[in-house]
Amino acid sequence: MSHPNIEELLAKLPGSLTAHESQSRFSHIWKTDEPLQCKGVCFPKNTQEVSNIMKWCHNNQQEVVVHGGLTNLVGGTKTHAHQLVVSLEKMNRVDSVDSDNRIVTAQAGAILETVMQAAEKQDLFLPLSFGARGSAQVGGVISTNAGGLRVFRYGMTRNWVLGLEVVLPNGTIIENLKTLRKDNSGIDLKQLFIGAEGILGVVTKVVFRLIEKPQTRHSAILTTNNYKNLLQTLRYFDQSLGARLTGFELMWENTFKTITAKNTHYQSPLQKLEKYIIFVEVLGKESSRDIQDLQDACTYGFDQGWIVDAGFFDTKSSQDECWKIREDVAVLEANSPHNQHFDISIPIDQIENIVNKIVQKLKSLDGVFEVYPFGHIADGNIHLIVGKQTDHKQLTQQINEIVYQPVAEVNGSISAEHGIGLDKKPYLFLSRTQDEINIMKGIKQLFDPKNILNPGRIID
Ligand SMILES: Cc1cc2nc3c(=O)[nH]c(=O)nc-3n(C[C@H](O)[C@H](O)[C@H](O)COP(=O)(O)OP(=O)(O)OC[C@H]3O[C@@H](n4cnc5c(N)ncnc54)[C@H](O)[C@@H]3O)c2cc1C
Repeated sequence: MSHPNIEELLAKLPGSLTAHESQSRFSHIWKTDEPLQCKGVCFPKNTQEVSNIMKWCHNNQQEVVVHGGLTNLVGGTKTHAHQLVVSLEKMNRVDSVDSDNRIVTAQAGAILETVMQAAEKQDLFLPLSFGARGSAQVGGVISTNAGGLRVFRYGMTRNWVLGLEVVLPNGTIIENLKTLRKDNSGIDLKQLFIGAEGILGVVTKVVFRLIEKPQTRHSAILTTNNYKNLLQTLRYFDQSLGARLTGFELMWENTFKTITAKNTHYQSPLQKLEKYIIFVEVLGKESSRDIQDLQDACTYGFDQGWIVDAGFFDTKSSQDECWKIREDVAVLEANSPHNQHFDISIPIDQIENIVNKIVQKLKSLDGVFEVYPFGHIADGNIHLIVGKQTDHKQLTQQINEIVYQPVAEVNGSISAEHGIGLDKKPYLFLSRTQDEINIMKGIKQLFDPKNILNPGRIID
C-alpha cells in the first residue's frame, strides 16, 4: 500500500482534523468512548469539495470511509488508522421545499428529522420514520435504503427518492437531481446508489417526493396471546382502516416488560399483558372519525377474542411516549453488557415458529442471558437484540449461526433494512447467490477500480 502525504490534502480543507485530533471523534453514536482511528477527518462544505477530495484520494490511492450520522448497526462506519474519514455533517442545508411539485431538496448531511420538519411546515409529509431520525443524515438514510415504522404502508427510502447527486470514487460528479415522478429514459442509475452503503459513490444531494401531511394521528397499544390472533388482527385492521393504518409494530412480552420496567421512565398502559404487544398508528383527516374507527376495530378484535387488552393515545405528548416505548432500544442495550443486533426478514406466517426456535437455542447457549425480539411485523421484519456476557469471537459466531441458519432455510434475508456493512459480510452468501455477489463485485470494480471508497463493506 502507498502512503500518500495526507497533510497536503488536509491543508487545502480548513477545519479538517489530523490523526491525533480525530481521536476526539468516534465511529458510532453508541461508542463515544472509542476514539476514532484514522489519518484525518475532513468536512467538505459543498459538492465540489467532495469531488476534489475524491479526485485526490483516487490519484493517491487513499482509502476513504464516509461518515453520516453514525447510527448504522452493521459496522459500516468503522475505520482503520490508514483511512481518511469524509464527514458530510457540514453539508446539512435543506435547500428548498417546493409545494407545487411536492418535493424537498436537501444536502446529504441534513438530518432526516430536520428535512421532515421542513416539509411539515408546508403541510407536506415525508413518511420515513425510525428511532434514529434525529441523528441519521439523509445521505446515510439513502445509502442504507432505510426502512422503519411506516414501511408497510409507504415503502422504504427508495420509494421516496426522485433525484440524486453523487460524487464517484474518481471525483466525477453525477448530477441527477430530477424532480420527475416518471422517467424511463434508460437505466435508472440513481437506484444503484440507494442501499449501496457508500461503496459506489458519495451522495451529496437528494430530491425526495412528498405527500400531503395527514391532519390527525391516533395510536394504540394492544395485547394478544396468540400469533394467529395477531395475524387476524393485522388483516382486519388493514381492511377496516385502509390507508389510514400506517403503523403495525410488534414487541414480544419480555422486551415490552424490560422497556416498561420500574427502572425506566416508561409506563405500560395495559392492565393485562399477553405474549405479544402490538403498536398501532392511524394517520388521517378527521379526528373523531379516526378514533371511532380505531376503537371499533379494537372492539371487533375483543369480540372475536383476538385482543385481550388495549390502551389508546390521543394527545401528541401521550403518543410520543407510546412510540418511545417501541423505539427506545437503548434501554435494551443498557440492560446488556454486550449485545448483538439482528434485522431479519422472514415470511410472516413463519415468524412465530422461527423466533421461538431461535430464542430457545440462544438461551441454551452459555454466555447468553436474554433475547429481546421486536419489529415491523407487517413487513415480516424482526429485530433481535441478544444480551450476552462477553464479546468473545466464538460466542458471536455461534449466535450468528443460530439466528441465520433458520432464516436461510425459509429463503429469508439476514438483513431486512440495516444492510451488510462489515459485520454481516461473512453471512451474505446465506441471502444472495454467488452469481448475485459476483455481479455486485463487478459493479464495484466498474465504479471504484482502485477500491478506495468504503472498502470492505458488503463485499471484498
Ligand atoms: C435507535 C436506532 C433505530 C434504528 N431504526 C432503524 C429502522 O427502523 N430502520 C432502518 O432501516 N434503520 C434503522 N436504524 C439504522 C440507521 O439509523 C440507518 O441505517 C440510517 O439510515 C443510517 O444513517 P446515518 O446517517 O446514521 O448513516 P451512517 O451510520 O453514518 O452510515 C451508514 C452507511 O452509509 C454510508 N454513508 C453515510 N453517508 C453517506 C453519504 N452521504 N454517501 C455515501 N455513503 C454514505 C456510510 O459509510 C455507512 O456505510 C436504526 C438505528 C438506531 C441507532
